[in-house]
Amino acid sequence: MARDSRPRPARGDRTRAVHGSEHEKPGPMSTPIVHSSTFSFASLEAMNAEQDRGADGAYYHRVGHPTLRACERRLAAIESAEDALLFSSGVAALACMFMAQLSAGDHALTLHQSYGGTHDLFRWGAERFGWKVDFLDAREPQTWEKAFRRETRLLHVESPTNPVLCVVDIAHAAELAHAHGARLTVDNTFASPVGQRPLAMGADLVMYSATKSIGGHGDLLAGAVTGSTAAIQPVWKARKVFGPVPDPALAWQIERSLKTLPLRVAAENANALELARRLAEHPAVVNVHYPGLASHRDHAIAARQMTLGFGPVVAFEVAGAAAAESVINAFQLIRQAPSLGGVESLASLPAFTSHIQLGPEGRAKAGIAEGLIRVSVGIEDVEDLWSDLDQALVRAAAVKV
Ligand SMILES: *Cc1c(COP(=O)(O)O)cnc(C)c1O
Repeated sequence: MARDSRPRPARGDRTRAVHGSEHEKPGPMSTPIVHSSTFSFASLEAMNAEQDRGADGAYYHRVGHPTLRACERRLAAIESAEDALLFSSGVAALACMFMAQLSAGDHALTLHQSYGGTHDLFRWGAERFGWKVDFLDAREPQTWEKAFRRETRLLHVESPTNPVLCVVDIAHAAELAHAHGARLTVDNTFASPVGQRPLAMGADLVMYSATKSIGGHGDLLAGAVTGSTAAIQPVWKARKVFGPVPDPALAWQIERSLKTLPLRVAAENANALELARRLAEHPAVVNVHYPGLASHRDHAIAARQMTLGFGPVVAFEVAGAAAAESVINAFQLIRQAPSLGGVESLASLPAFTSHIQLGPEGRAKAGIAEGLIRVSVGIEDVEDLWSDLDQALVRAAAVKV
Protein backbone atom coordinates (compact mmCIF):
# COMPACT_ATOMS: atom_id res chain seq x y z
CA MET A 1 0.00 0.00 0.00
CA ALA A 2 1.29 3.46 -0.86
CA ARG A 3 2.31 5.57 2.12
CA ASP A 4 0.21 8.62 2.83
CA SER A 5 2.47 11.54 1.96
CA ARG A 6 0.28 14.29 3.42
CA PRO A 7 2.04 16.30 6.14
CA ARG A 8 1.16 14.87 9.53
CA PRO A 9 -0.42 17.31 12.01
CA ALA A 10 1.99 18.17 14.83
CA ARG A 11 1.59 15.59 17.56
CA GLY A 12 0.70 16.65 21.09
CA ASP A 13 2.97 16.66 24.14
CA ARG A 14 1.60 13.44 25.59
CA THR A 15 2.00 11.57 22.31
CA ARG A 16 5.57 12.81 21.85
CA ALA A 17 6.38 11.90 25.46
CA VAL A 18 5.24 8.32 24.88
CA HIS A 19 6.49 7.81 21.32
CA GLY A 20 9.25 10.36 20.75
CA SER A 21 9.19 12.19 17.44
CA GLU A 22 10.91 9.67 15.21
CA HIS A 23 9.18 6.76 13.60
CA GLU A 24 9.75 3.79 15.89
CA LYS A 25 10.95 0.66 14.15
CA PRO A 26 9.18 -2.58 15.05
CA GLY A 27 11.02 -4.27 17.90
CA PRO A 28 11.41 -3.75 21.64
CA MET A 29 8.89 -1.28 23.11
CA SER A 30 11.45 -0.13 25.64
CA THR A 31 14.92 1.14 24.76
CA PRO A 32 17.47 -1.67 25.24
CA ILE A 33 19.99 -0.87 27.98
CA VAL A 34 23.36 -1.19 26.27
CA HIS A 35 25.90 -1.79 29.04
CA SER A 36 29.06 -1.38 27.03
CA SER A 37 31.64 1.27 27.83
CA THR A 38 33.37 0.79 24.49
CA PHE A 39 32.44 -0.43 21.00
CA SER A 40 34.43 -2.41 18.43
CA PHE A 41 34.95 -1.73 14.72
CA ALA A 42 35.94 -3.68 11.62
CA SER A 43 38.31 -0.98 10.41
CA LEU A 44 40.06 2.22 11.43
CA GLU A 45 37.86 4.07 8.95
CA ALA A 46 34.65 2.77 10.54
CA MET A 47 35.95 3.64 14.00
CA ASN A 48 36.86 7.20 13.01
CA ALA A 49 33.49 7.67 11.30
CA GLU A 50 31.67 6.60 14.46
CA GLN A 51 33.76 8.88 16.65
CA ASP A 52 32.87 11.79 14.34
CA ARG A 53 29.17 11.26 15.09
CA GLY A 54 29.72 12.69 18.60
CA ALA A 55 26.68 12.38 20.85
CA ASP A 56 24.89 10.31 18.16
CA GLY A 57 27.64 7.73 17.97
CA ALA A 58 28.45 4.47 19.73
CA TYR A 59 32.21 4.81 20.12
CA TYR A 60 33.19 5.34 23.74
CA HIS A 61 30.83 5.90 26.63
CA ARG A 62 31.92 9.39 27.71
CA VAL A 63 31.34 10.78 24.20
CA GLY A 64 27.73 9.51 24.22
CA HIS A 65 26.09 6.09 24.02
CA PRO A 66 22.95 4.55 22.46
CA THR A 67 20.80 4.29 25.60
CA LEU A 68 21.61 7.88 26.52
CA ARG A 69 20.95 9.14 23.01
CA ALA A 70 17.49 7.55 22.88
CA CYS A 71 16.56 9.43 26.05
CA GLU A 72 18.07 12.68 24.78
CA ARG A 73 16.11 12.41 21.51
CA ARG A 74 12.89 11.87 23.44
CA LEU A 75 13.52 14.89 25.67
CA ALA A 76 14.27 17.03 22.59
CA ALA A 77 11.02 15.79 20.99
CA ILE A 78 8.98 16.63 24.10
CA GLU A 79 10.37 20.15 24.25
CA SER A 80 10.38 20.65 20.45
CA ALA A 81 14.10 21.40 20.73
CA GLU A 82 16.61 20.48 18.02
CA ASP A 83 18.81 18.71 20.52
CA ALA A 84 19.18 17.72 24.16
CA LEU A 85 21.99 16.41 26.36
CA LEU A 86 21.80 14.61 29.69
CA PHE A 87 24.19 14.97 32.62
CA SER A 88 24.83 13.13 35.86
CA SER A 89 23.31 16.01 37.89
CA GLY A 90 21.56 19.34 37.39
CA VAL A 91 24.64 21.11 38.67
CA ALA A 92 26.83 19.25 36.13
CA ALA A 93 24.45 20.49 33.41
CA LEU A 94 24.79 24.07 34.72
CA ALA A 95 28.59 23.79 34.97
CA CYS A 96 28.99 22.50 31.40
CA MET A 97 26.53 25.08 30.07
CA PHE A 98 28.38 27.96 31.76
CA MET A 99 31.83 26.67 30.82
CA ALA A 100 30.67 26.45 27.21
CA GLN A 101 29.74 30.17 27.28
CA LEU A 102 32.34 31.89 29.43
CA SER A 103 36.08 32.48 29.05
CA ALA A 104 38.42 34.30 31.45
CA GLY A 105 37.46 37.97 31.63
CA ASP A 106 33.90 37.43 30.40
CA HIS A 107 31.06 38.96 32.39
CA ALA A 108 27.89 37.11 33.35
CA LEU A 109 24.62 38.26 34.90
CA THR A 110 22.34 36.10 36.99
CA LEU A 111 19.65 36.52 39.64
CA HIS A 112 20.05 36.99 43.39
CA GLN A 113 17.18 34.48 43.48
CA SER A 114 19.11 31.82 41.50
CA TYR A 115 19.53 28.30 42.88
CA GLY A 116 22.21 28.02 45.60
CA GLY A 117 24.36 25.70 43.47
CA THR A 118 24.28 28.30 40.67
CA HIS A 119 25.71 30.88 43.10
CA ASP A 120 28.42 28.36 44.07
CA LEU A 121 29.32 27.78 40.41
CA PHE A 122 29.59 31.48 39.60
CA ARG A 123 31.63 32.08 42.78
CA TRP A 124 33.96 29.25 41.76
CA GLY A 125 34.21 30.64 38.22
CA ALA A 126 35.02 34.11 39.58
CA GLU A 127 37.75 32.74 41.89
CA ARG A 128 39.32 30.15 39.57
CA PHE A 129 38.42 30.97 35.97
CA GLY A 130 38.45 34.78 35.91
CA TRP A 131 34.73 35.18 35.23
CA LYS A 132 33.09 38.40 36.36
CA VAL A 133 29.60 38.06 37.76
CA ASP A 134 26.88 40.47 38.86
CA PHE A 135 23.53 39.68 40.42
CA LEU A 136 20.14 41.07 39.42
CA ASP A 137 16.92 41.23 41.42
CA ALA A 138 14.23 39.13 39.72
CA ARG A 139 11.62 41.53 41.11
CA GLU A 140 13.16 44.58 39.42
CA PRO A 141 13.66 43.80 35.72
CA GLN A 142 13.66 47.54 34.93
CA THR A 143 17.13 47.71 36.59
CA TRP A 144 18.71 44.95 34.49
CA GLU A 145 19.65 46.89 31.39
CA LYS A 146 22.23 49.06 33.14
CA ALA A 147 24.03 45.98 34.47
CA PHE A 148 25.18 44.92 30.99
CA ARG A 149 28.78 45.69 30.04
CA ARG A 150 30.73 45.40 26.82
CA GLU A 151 32.15 42.04 27.98
CA THR A 152 28.78 40.60 29.11
CA ARG A 153 28.36 37.21 27.40
CA LEU A 154 25.66 35.59 29.45
CA LEU A 155 22.37 36.30 31.18
CA HIS A 156 21.24 33.30 33.23
CA VAL A 157 17.75 33.34 34.76
CA GLU A 158 15.36 31.00 36.49
CA SER A 159 11.54 31.15 36.44
CA PRO A 160 9.69 30.63 38.69
CA THR A 161 12.40 31.11 41.32
CA ASN A 162 12.87 29.26 44.59
CA PRO A 163 11.18 29.59 47.06
CA VAL A 164 8.90 32.64 46.63
CA LEU A 165 8.26 32.03 42.93
CA CYS A 166 9.25 35.28 41.24
CA VAL A 167 8.47 35.06 37.54
CA VAL A 168 10.84 36.33 34.84
CA ASP A 169 9.49 37.58 31.51
CA ILE A 170 11.64 35.27 29.38
CA ALA A 171 10.97 36.97 26.04
CA HIS A 172 12.01 40.29 27.58
CA ALA A 173 15.16 38.72 29.08
CA ALA A 174 16.06 37.25 25.66
CA GLU A 175 15.63 40.62 23.95
CA LEU A 176 17.80 42.35 26.55
CA ALA A 177 20.56 39.74 26.34
CA HIS A 178 20.61 39.67 22.55
CA ALA A 179 20.58 43.47 22.27
CA HIS A 180 23.83 43.43 24.28
CA GLY A 181 25.50 40.60 22.38
CA ALA A 182 24.94 38.11 25.20
CA ARG A 183 23.21 34.73 25.35
CA LEU A 184 20.21 33.89 27.50
CA THR A 185 20.21 30.61 29.43
CA VAL A 186 17.20 29.56 31.49
CA ASP A 187 16.97 27.16 34.43
CA ASN A 188 13.51 25.75 33.67
CA THR A 189 13.51 23.19 36.48
CA PHE A 190 10.47 24.56 38.36
CA ALA A 191 8.26 24.77 35.26
CA SER A 192 9.49 21.54 33.56
CA PRO A 193 9.91 20.90 29.79
CA VAL A 194 6.15 20.59 29.28
CA GLY A 195 5.15 23.54 31.46
CA GLN A 196 7.17 26.32 29.84
CA ARG A 197 9.15 26.57 26.58
CA PRO A 198 11.91 29.17 26.92
CA LEU A 199 13.50 28.19 23.59
CA ALA A 200 10.33 29.34 21.80
CA MET A 201 10.59 32.64 23.70
CA GLY A 202 14.13 33.34 22.53
CA ALA A 203 16.35 31.56 25.09
CA ASP A 204 19.56 30.12 23.63
CA LEU A 205 19.87 27.19 26.03
CA VAL A 206 17.58 25.70 28.66
CA MET A 207 18.68 23.51 31.55
CA TYR A 208 17.00 21.20 34.05
CA SER A 209 17.73 19.44 37.23
CA ALA A 210 16.24 16.17 35.93
CA THR A 211 16.34 15.08 39.59
CA LYS A 212 13.10 17.06 39.93
CA SER A 213 10.06 16.81 37.56
CA ILE A 214 11.80 14.89 34.75
CA GLY A 215 12.81 12.02 37.06
CA GLY A 216 9.76 12.73 39.18
CA HIS A 217 9.91 9.81 41.62
CA GLY A 218 12.55 10.91 44.12
CA ASP A 219 14.89 8.15 42.98
CA LEU A 220 17.53 9.61 40.68
CA LEU A 221 20.02 12.47 40.24
CA ALA A 222 20.48 13.90 36.71
CA GLY A 223 20.52 17.06 34.62
CA ALA A 224 19.70 18.15 31.08
CA VAL A 225 20.40 20.95 28.60
CA THR A 226 18.26 21.61 25.51
CA GLY A 227 18.75 23.96 22.55
CA SER A 228 19.64 24.24 18.90
CA THR A 229 22.21 21.87 17.39
CA ALA A 230 24.67 24.77 17.12
CA ALA A 231 24.18 25.98 20.71
CA ILE A 232 24.39 22.44 22.11
CA GLN A 233 27.69 21.59 20.38
CA PRO A 234 30.04 23.45 22.79
CA VAL A 235 28.04 22.10 25.77
CA TRP A 236 28.60 18.56 24.46
CA LYS A 237 32.30 19.39 24.18
CA ALA A 238 32.36 20.51 27.83
CA ARG A 239 30.56 17.31 28.86
CA LYS A 240 33.15 15.23 27.00
CA VAL A 241 36.05 17.18 28.56
CA PHE A 242 34.75 17.05 32.15
CA GLY A 243 32.91 13.73 31.90
CA PRO A 244 29.59 13.92 33.83
CA VAL A 245 27.83 11.41 31.54
CA PRO A 246 24.88 9.35 32.87
CA ASP A 247 25.33 5.58 32.62
CA PRO A 248 22.92 3.38 30.59
CA ALA A 249 20.79 2.33 33.57
CA LEU A 250 20.26 5.96 34.59
CA ALA A 251 19.53 7.04 31.00
CA TRP A 252 16.91 4.29 30.72
CA GLN A 253 15.32 5.32 34.01
CA ILE A 254 15.06 8.95 32.85
CA GLU A 255 13.58 7.91 29.50
CA ARG A 256 10.92 5.82 31.23
CA SER A 257 10.06 8.77 33.48
CA LEU A 258 9.72 11.07 30.46
CA LYS A 259 6.80 9.04 29.12
CA THR A 260 4.56 10.15 32.02
CA LEU A 261 6.02 13.65 32.43
CA PRO A 262 3.04 15.57 30.92
CA LEU A 263 0.55 13.58 33.03
CA ARG A 264 2.50 14.04 36.25
CA VAL A 265 3.13 17.74 35.74
CA ALA A 266 -0.53 18.42 34.86
CA ALA A 267 -1.70 16.58 37.99
CA GLU A 268 0.84 18.28 40.28
CA ASN A 269 0.09 21.73 38.88
CA ALA A 270 -3.69 21.26 39.23
CA ASN A 271 -3.28 20.12 42.84
CA ALA A 272 -0.92 23.01 43.58
CA LEU A 273 -3.36 25.61 42.23
CA GLU A 274 -6.25 24.18 44.23
CA LEU A 275 -4.20 24.10 47.45
CA ALA A 276 -2.87 27.64 46.85
CA ARG A 277 -6.45 28.92 46.50
CA ARG A 278 -7.57 27.22 49.70
CA LEU A 279 -4.46 28.32 51.62
CA ALA A 280 -5.14 31.93 50.63
CA GLU A 281 -8.49 31.65 52.46
CA HIS A 282 -7.14 29.91 55.56
CA PRO A 283 -7.21 32.03 58.76
CA ALA A 284 -3.82 30.68 59.94
CA VAL A 285 -2.07 31.66 56.69
CA VAL A 286 -0.52 35.13 56.47
CA ASN A 287 0.54 35.09 52.81
CA VAL A 288 0.61 32.70 49.83
CA HIS A 289 3.16 32.83 47.01
CA TYR A 290 1.88 31.09 43.88
CA PRO A 291 2.00 32.51 40.35
CA GLY A 292 -1.36 30.91 39.57
CA LEU A 293 -3.16 33.22 41.98
CA ALA A 294 -4.49 36.46 40.48
CA SER A 295 -3.03 38.24 43.55
CA HIS A 296 0.56 37.21 42.60
CA ARG A 297 2.64 40.15 41.38
CA ASP A 298 3.71 38.35 38.19
CA HIS A 299 0.48 36.45 37.51
CA ALA A 300 -0.03 38.01 34.05
CA ILE A 301 3.47 37.02 32.84
CA ALA A 302 3.12 33.54 34.30
CA ALA A 303 -0.29 33.07 32.65
CA ARG A 304 1.25 34.06 29.32
CA GLN A 305 4.34 31.88 29.40
CA MET A 306 3.42 28.84 31.53
CA THR A 307 1.23 26.54 29.48
CA LEU A 308 0.27 23.63 31.74
CA GLY A 309 -0.52 25.35 35.02
CA PHE A 310 1.84 27.21 37.33
CA GLY A 311 4.24 24.61 38.67
CA PRO A 312 4.19 22.18 41.58
CA VAL A 313 5.68 24.48 44.23
CA VAL A 314 3.51 26.57 46.56
CA ALA A 315 5.03 28.69 49.33
CA PHE A 316 3.00 30.15 52.19
CA GLU A 317 3.68 32.03 55.39
CA VAL A 318 2.40 31.44 58.87
CA ALA A 319 2.97 33.70 61.88
CA GLY A 320 6.67 33.16 62.58
CA ALA A 321 9.31 30.46 62.79
CA ALA A 322 7.78 28.56 65.73
CA ALA A 323 4.43 28.27 63.96
CA ALA A 324 6.13 27.12 60.74
CA GLU A 325 8.08 24.47 62.62
CA SER A 326 4.93 23.31 64.33
CA VAL A 327 3.09 23.03 60.97
CA ILE A 328 5.82 21.08 59.24
CA ASN A 329 6.27 18.70 62.19
CA ALA A 330 2.51 18.07 62.29
CA PHE A 331 2.23 16.84 58.68
CA GLN A 332 1.13 13.22 58.52
CA LEU A 333 1.05 12.72 54.75
CA ILE A 334 3.27 15.48 53.36
CA ARG A 335 6.87 14.50 54.00
CA GLN A 336 9.59 16.78 55.30
CA ALA A 337 12.36 16.70 52.68
CA PRO A 338 14.27 18.89 50.22
CA SER A 339 13.68 18.57 46.44
CA LEU A 340 10.55 19.07 44.32
CA GLY A 341 8.63 17.92 41.29
CA GLY A 342 8.10 14.34 42.46
CA VAL A 343 4.90 12.29 42.70
CA GLU A 344 5.00 12.62 46.49
CA SER A 345 4.30 15.93 48.28
CA LEU A 346 7.31 17.31 50.18
CA ALA A 347 7.65 20.27 52.52
CA SER A 348 10.57 22.33 53.76
CA LEU A 349 11.31 25.50 55.74
CA PRO A 350 13.55 27.58 53.42
CA ALA A 351 14.73 29.93 56.23
CA PHE A 352 16.18 26.95 58.11
CA THR A 353 17.34 24.76 55.19
CA SER A 354 18.04 25.96 51.63
CA HIS A 355 18.40 29.66 52.57
CA ILE A 356 19.92 29.41 56.06
CA GLN A 357 23.28 30.75 54.84
CA LEU A 358 21.70 34.08 53.79
CA GLY A 359 21.19 35.07 57.43
CA PRO A 360 18.17 37.08 58.68
CA GLU A 361 19.09 40.25 56.73
CA GLY A 362 19.74 38.44 53.47
CA ARG A 363 16.48 36.57 53.80
CA ALA A 364 14.55 39.75 54.50
CA LYS A 365 16.08 41.28 51.35
CA ALA A 366 15.12 38.19 49.34
CA GLY A 367 11.56 38.28 50.72
CA ILE A 368 11.93 34.94 52.55
CA ALA A 369 9.96 35.14 55.81
CA GLU A 370 10.99 33.08 58.86
CA GLY A 371 7.49 31.56 58.84
CA LEU A 372 7.69 30.48 55.18
CA ILE A 373 6.77 26.90 54.30
CA ARG A 374 7.52 25.52 50.84
CA VAL A 375 5.44 22.62 49.59
CA SER A 376 6.19 20.69 46.41
CA VAL A 377 2.79 19.28 45.60
CA GLY A 378 2.60 15.69 44.36
CA ILE A 379 -0.05 13.68 42.54
CA GLU A 380 -1.95 12.45 45.62
CA ASP A 381 -5.70 13.09 46.01
CA VAL A 382 -6.08 16.78 46.60
CA GLU A 383 -8.59 16.29 49.45
CA ASP A 384 -6.06 14.18 51.36
CA LEU A 385 -3.41 16.87 50.90
CA TRP A 386 -5.83 19.55 52.02
CA SER A 387 -6.89 17.72 55.17
CA ASP A 388 -3.21 17.24 56.06
CA LEU A 389 -2.48 20.95 55.52
CA ASP A 390 -5.61 22.03 57.39
CA GLN A 391 -5.03 19.86 60.48
CA ALA A 392 -1.40 21.02 60.69
CA LEU A 393 -2.41 24.68 60.33
CA VAL A 394 -5.14 24.42 62.95
CA ARG A 395 -2.62 22.95 65.37
CA ALA A 396 -0.08 25.68 64.57
CA ALA A 397 -2.64 28.43 65.09
CA ALA A 398 -2.59 27.40 68.76
CA VAL A 399 1.18 28.11 68.96
CA LYS A 400 1.74 31.55 70.44
CA VAL A 401 4.59 33.62 69.01
C1 LIG B 1 17.85 21.03 42.29
C2 LIG B 1 18.09 22.19 41.39
C3 LIG B 1 19.31 22.34 40.70
C4 LIG B 1 20.48 21.39 40.88
O1 LIG B 1 20.20 20.12 40.42
P1 LIG B 1 20.88 18.78 41.00
O2 LIG B 1 20.20 17.74 40.21
O3 LIG B 1 20.57 18.73 42.48
O4 LIG B 1 22.34 18.87 40.75
C5 LIG B 1 19.43 23.43 39.85
N1 LIG B 1 18.43 24.33 39.69
C6 LIG B 1 17.27 24.22 40.37
C7 LIG B 1 16.21 25.26 40.17
C8 LIG B 1 17.06 23.16 41.23
O5 LIG B 1 15.90 23.06 41.91
